[in-house]
Amino acid sequence: MYTKFQQHLQSELQQIESAGLYKRERIIVSPQTSGIQVATADNATDVINFCANNYLGLADNPELIAAAKDCMDRRGYGMASVRFICGTQDTHKQLERAISEFFGTEDTILYASCFDANGGLFEPLLTADDAIISDALNHASIIDGVRLCKAVRYRYANGDMQDLEKQLQAAQAQRYRIIATDGVFSMDGNVCPLDKIYELAQQYDAMVMVDESHSAGVVGRTGHGVTERYNLRGKIEIITGTLGKAFGGSVGGFTTGKQEIIDLLRQRSRPYLFSNSLPPMIAAAGIKTLEILTRSNELQDRLHANTEYFISRMKAAGFDIKPTESAICAVMLYDAKLSQDFAAALQQEGIYVTGFYYPVVPKDQARIRVQVSAAHSHEQLDRGVEAFIKVGKALGVLK
Ligand SMILES: *Cc1c(COP(=O)(O)O)cnc(C)c1O
Repeated sequence: MYTKFQQHLQSELQQIESAGLYKRERIIVSPQTSGIQVATADNATDVINFCANNYLGLADNPELIAAAKDCMDRRGYGMASVRFICGTQDTHKQLERAISEFFGTEDTILYASCFDANGGLFEPLLTADDAIISDALNHASIIDGVRLCKAVRYRYANGDMQDLEKQLQAAQAQRYRIIATDGVFSMDGNVCPLDKIYELAQQYDAMVMVDESHSAGVVGRTGHGVTERYNLRGKIEIITGTLGKAFGGSVGGFTTGKQEIIDLLRQRSRPYLFSNSLPPMIAAAGIKTLEILTRSNELQDRLHANTEYFISRMKAAGFDIKPTESAICAVMLYDAKLSQDFAAALQQEGIYVTGFYYPVVPKDQARIRVQVSAAHSHEQLDRGVEAFIKVGKALGVLK
């Protein structure tokens, strides 16, 4: 059998390759931070990293490393169990409490990732009698979570409140309704219009779920996410998020919100029931992360200042930047090949970014996505902008 199957796979791989969509891993041989070393054929080269989700620069933070080491010494390496059998330490409960306090929610349940949090969210809560109304640009994990649930599915165009209203009207046929949205959409950096979503939810008797993966730590004056940005703290039924982006950049996900929702997830959510507990050291570093973000607004302020600085310099240089309210800056190039050539030329200049094109973004919407971090120095931001200008002129994007 395998010979035939092998040929089938080889042809699939060939198709991916010839469509120019083959993903290759670039090997980093340093810690993750704003300046990294990437392996080359004979050695390693220094590049400035503009494509990590390391928004607050915590991925190599000494306090988090110390907290993780200390916890590993005190509580060991792993739990060798799911949470409800023998995988819960006080550290896990403390992290859950810290997340609830951060978002102003009633309770929190941890997962191995936000992919798991979203994957295990809808199925335990809703049945075929209910409805999920989902933004068309929601993250793959929300889409998969919705697929695993028997609820009737409705989709609205990205951030389109007229369309959402239309879908909510149709969804009156069902018993319970949840509107599901990303807080920040990762390809444009736009924030979901949560104020209007919340209003429509009130008007059409629906609940709201927001995935704060790209917004927690970033959006809102103190980085408390889209509920801070729209003054809706404590009002949203369900928030999911990750410890893998602004919150330290390691692994781990969570669902936080109304008490009974979290209680039922602890009884029935499959990735929680059937997958291992987070290692204690990860939980300890998570607690430290939230402590750092609550203790001072320094990192959040620096991220906001860096993002503003980078975007204003890029706009002044003449680049076409998508409107953003996050640390994601989409430099629009429109042409797929240009986006790849541009990214390759930037890497020659020591600037590490990713070019995206169809089908990751809509046709003729190719772009380079830049992710700004609190860890970037002004000098690094300047070098980034100058490389963009140099390559932009060489490739005819700038006059
Ligand atoms: C990154 C991301 C996830 C996945 O988070 P992990 O913890 O890495 O699994 C889920 N949802 C959104 C919106 C994301 O951006």
